[in-house]
Amino acid sequence: LAKDGGKRATAVYEASLHSAALERLQLRADLERALGAGELVLHYQPTITLGLDDGLAPTVHGFEALVRWQHPERGLLAPVHFVPLAEESGLIVPLGTWVLQEACRSAVALQQPGRPDVAMSVNVAVAQLTAPGFVDLVHASLAESGLAPHLLVLEITETAVLAGADVVAPLLAQLRATGIRIAIDDFGTGYSSLSYLRDLPVDVLKVDKSFVDHVVRDEQGASLAEAIIAMGHSLHLTTVAEGVEDRDQATWLTSAGATYGQGYLWSRPVPLVQAAALLNGAERGVPAP
Ligand code: C2E
Ligand code: MG
Ligand code: MG
Ligand code: MG
Repeated sequence: LAKDGGKRATAVYEASLHSAALERLQLRADLERALGAGELVLHYQPTITLGLDDGLAPTVHGFEALVRWQHPERGLLAPVHFVPLAEESGLIVPLGTWVLQEACRSAVALQQPGRPDVAMSVNVAVAQLTAPGFVDLVHASLAESGLAPHLLVLEITETAVLAGADVVAPLLAQLRATGIRIAIDDFGTGYSSLSYLRDLPVDVLKVDKSFVDHVVRDEQGASLAEAIIAMGHSLHLTTVAEGVEDRDQATWLTSAGATYGQGYLWSRPVPLVQAAALLNGAERGVPAP
């Protein structure tokens, strides 16, 4: 009986593995089609200048472009459902190209007479950064859209930088030489050493949400975040606190000297039209439900 039960369990397990594999294949084919069919969309989440925020009309410094997939059957899919898959399959390269070009165009559309300085951050996967021609692609995207290089920020995760430091650092230096800014995303999660950070050609540290979560009512959590922000200062980097959800966190981060904040407290990622409205101060953010 035990044996039969085992067999049955194995069969069920294999069937589910098989269907999971099929589902991934299906999703990959779908994603490839979606790219061509224009089903990918960008939402934009504002970064807020801390210290200027009076709680009523936060000062928007810029936006981060975040990709979504408007799937015909599954609805609006968050990146967690398809970006890892795109990375594994190599589709991240054409996907990332589209994101970069679209984000540059949107950045230009967001500039206004009173605000000619709105920054745009774009997430870049390491496979994309190290693909042949990436630096040229960035320059072409700037030229085609008319976006000034200093308004473009490329975000690379700390883990990605660590994984390919030898190849990645010279590429970042090349991009930075033309005025483009580089941010280390999810900083604090990748165990990079301080000496290593000193040698890296970067401008911005994005303090990971996992630290921001603990700055209030947790002494150790606060010390860690404080240390990261202080380190950013001493290396002449600007710091962005990610995932700020409440006013107490924002107050704490402001006193600790973080430059910018980003999070549901101010706004979720929103479509371009709403992003423009946020910039005009015409609308409060769209908080999470
Ligand atoms: P990320 O670059 O660290 O982006 C921040 C993520 O945190 C976004 O999730 C954002 O919606 C979410 N977030 C912002 N504020 C809050 C908050 O207050 N609370 C909580 N709980 N979450 C907050 P999203 O849009 O789901 O993106 C997840 C990740 O997917 C991004 O993390 C980034 O690593 C990746 N990603 C997104 N768009 C792209 C892209 O165009 N290319 C690549 N290569 N990766 C992308
Ligand atoms: Mg990011
Ligand atoms: Mg991040
Ligand atoms: Mg993060």
